[in-house]
Amino acid sequence: MEAVLYVGTLALGAISSVFSGQNPLNLYFSTPNITAELGPLISGTILLPDDTRWVNATARWQEHAAPSYRAIVEVATEKDIQETIRFANLHSIPFLALGGGHGMTNTLAKLKGGLAISTRRMKTVELRKDGTTAKLGPGWKSGELLHALDAIGKRTVTGYCECTGLAGVMLGGGHGVLQGEYGLIADNLVEARLVIGDGSVLTVSEQTNADLFWALRGGGHNFGIVSEFVHKVYDKKVDDRWTVASFIYSEDKLEDVFSTFNALEDHSHPAELTYQTSIVRLPDFDPNNAIISLSIVYDGPPDQAEPYVKLFREKEHIFSQEQVGKYTQLGVMTSLYDGGPFCRPFGAIHVGPISLYTYNATAMREAYSIFNKVTAEDTFARSFMLIESYSMQAVQAVPEENTAVIDRAYNILVGNFIIHPIAFAEADARGREYSHRIRDALFIGSGMKGDPPVYVNYASGLETENQIYGEGWRVEKLKKLKKKYDPKGLFNFYNPIS
Ligand SMILES: Cc1cc2nc3c(=O)[nH]c(=O)nc-3n(C[C@H](O)[C@H](O)[C@H](O)COP(=O)(O)OP(=O)(O)OC[C@H]3O[C@@H](n4cnc5c(N)ncnc54)[C@H](O)[C@@H]3O)c2cc1C
Repeated sequence: MEAVLYVGTLALGAISSVFSGQNPLNLYFSTPNITAELGPLISGTILLPDDTRWVNATARWQEHAAPSYRAIVEVATEKDIQETIRFANLHSIPFLALGGGHGMTNTLAKLKGGLAISTRRMKTVELRKDGTTAKLGPGWKSGELLHALDAIGKRTVTGYCECTGLAGVMLGGGHGVLQGEYGLIADNLVEARLVIGDGSVLTVSEQTNADLFWALRGGGHNFGIVSEFVHKVYDKKVDDRWTVASFIYSEDKLEDVFSTFNALEDHSHPAELTYQTSIVRLPDFDPNNAIISLSIVYDGPPDQAEPYVKLFREKEHIFSQEQVGKYTQLGVMTSLYDGGPFCRPFGAIHVGPISLYTYNATAMREAYSIFNKVTAEDTFARSFMLIESYSMQAVQAVPEENTAVIDRAYNILVGNFIIHPIAFAEADARGREYSHRIRDALFIGSGMKGDPPVYVNYASGLETENQIYGEGWRVEKLKKLKKKYDPKGLFNFYNPIS
């Protein structure tokens, strides 16, 4: 008893001399002076919440389940990333890399009062002597890199949507319109420099830390912050013409449109072809029901795209538009450009994602009916179902076991985005339920067993590890690597591997 009292007295004595009369509990609520302590150690800048740039810097597509930050460190160099991680560890502050700001998983909300390590200033491109690879900074958005490479006569796979951060997309695999020709974004990664949780830097490639290289491509948000990567690049096509054909159909054409997609898949989907369908309410075209909006994107001139465009032009439609342009104009032709209608804060998004092998027209009708009913209510009227069918030739040429990317046979990505204004928090539970009901209708119709498989970058965070990271052996391997490279779980905010 005496001994206990003695220790207690000593401890209090020590604390009172440090705090000179303040309540020691302040320790738990005090924040270090980030600008004064971290500022001199880095060449980048630090934004605090009272900065006029704060709102823009923290803007996200998904406004629900947002991570909360006490500061944004706009790093300019790899050393800045290292110093910021060491500083955060010293003060037990959680941190998160920020690239494009499009992460939508609910798990990000677990970051509270953290440091955002924004890589957006780190946009460098250095074509290597061989002309087939380029050293890239981690801060590129997909569209920015597309334009930067085009200016030096090159191209590579980037996210289809131009406002996504390339690193965030790539670490989950990464889908884009060039994947049929060159593979997923992650398939084009040759080497990365990764700042891990203790602030040290690892080179990661097929030759060095090969186990981590495997994990980085598909499960890559779990291990560190990419400070640089070497990526494969390809010569720009001499004939740089892209064909984009857009059609809008009324709901009664749903079975016909999706059955045609299946016929197309059966008879080979060329590497140059991507088609993306949205089911959405556009009252100007149909005041009563959601419509089906289709974009056919072809890497080539109209005569090469014609066999595919023709199939859909022949169907009775309520709108059509056919465009030809350069690769750098694709974002505008598809409305997926940075700052465009798909690249701004949307509200609270409840995503019910699923990956599929084929379309089941009956299940699509069931999903459509639920969606149509839900979105008849004003609260959910801005929702949309996004159904993407990318080409898979070069993706499937990579052996399944080479990367952490799950089953490469899925060629259809569905994101059911049930959206309501962020202020209507009471709509959250219903939004979540509706997105799951639509997803479940598609899953039942798919004939797949178990639970719906999900692309990690479309996951809501409510799925199991197997749904996101695949079969048992993949999850087990990722768990072992997580213990090895992130033993303290510092990178546990984006669909974490436990
Ligand atoms: C409008 C929209 C369009 C989309 N289009 C596509 C598409 O065309 N193709 C596709 O495959 N997916 C697409 N997605 C999904 C997209 O892949 C994910 O949202 C992804 O997380 C986006 O990354 P970001 O950098 O933009 O977001 P951020 O929120 O900046 O990053 C997401 C997460 O990635 C990690 N991260 C970011 N940078 C680094 C880094 N340097 N090192 C380590 N970790 C890092 C962090 O964990 C971060 O929380 C889209 C999503 C939206 C909302």
